[in-house]
Amino acid sequence: MKMRKPIVVANWKMHKLVAEARDYVRRFRPLVEGLDRVEIVLAPPFTALAPLAEELKGSQIKLAAQDTWHEAQGAYTGEVSALMLRELGCRYVIIGHSERREHCKESDELINLKLKGAFAYDLIPILCVGERLEERQAGKTVAVLEGQLRADLAGLAKGDVARLVIAYEPVWAIGTGETASPEDANEGAKFIRALVADLYDEATAQSVRIQYGGSVRPENIAALMAQEEIDGALVGGASLDPVVFAEIVRRAQGGEEER
Ligand code: PEP
Repeated sequence: MKMRKPIVVANWKMHKLVAEARDYVRRFRPLVEGLDRVEIVLAPPFTALAPLAEELKGSQIKLAAQDTWHEAQGAYTGEVSALMLRELGCRYVIIGHSERREHCKESDELINLKLKGAFAYDLIPILCVGERLEERQAGKTVAVLEGQLRADLAGLAKGDVARLVIAYEPVWAIGTGETASPEDANEGAKFIRALVADLYDEATAQSVRIQYGGSVRPENIAALMAQEEIDGALVGGASLDPVVFAEIVRRAQGGEEER
């Protein structure tokens, strides 16, 4: 029995216009009605956040943004701050996704600032870390995770880290149909928790929730959730269909809801 409440997040990436996002929520809500042993979070593009906050009124489903900037306001053309996301009703924000690390050249230093910016306005970050294929093949998985986490968490307060969600996302498993085996995913999560214990303390490490991300589907979620160290999933492609994502949530919750 896990002490931490599992969290399953739909990362829509750059998909869905506002009307499509609204339609998704109208179909999704009844499918997850009453499922409350797993925290359910939708991360639509910025443009759909305000309309979805409206659609989600009265539901247990929470909203996340897919990125934020580290300052609350100022001369940062094109950026959106944690303060602004909070105003829209976001509870969470994804930070350091591998697609941003790669396409937007986000560094660990910037990610560290963004984490601080999110906490300053009471947004809970979902920090993404993970190794690339060539790094895994070279036996560098643990070194990569350690390097990312030490830099990303530098100077963060213990109380903030205790509320953090960390997504272990091997880059080679994202959007490829390749999933880490449940045991490998668990090993990655276990290493992350041990490092947090090292950097902070055991109680903090035990309260951090660690997700797995990388081609999660209804067929593999139960085996991943059965792992001791895995507290949920960050789901990309399979979260775009409300029926499929609801099935993932149901299976993540387990128990009598599993079919
Ligand atoms: C992701 O976007 O974080 C992700 C894991 O994508 P996918 O589920 O499509 O691999």
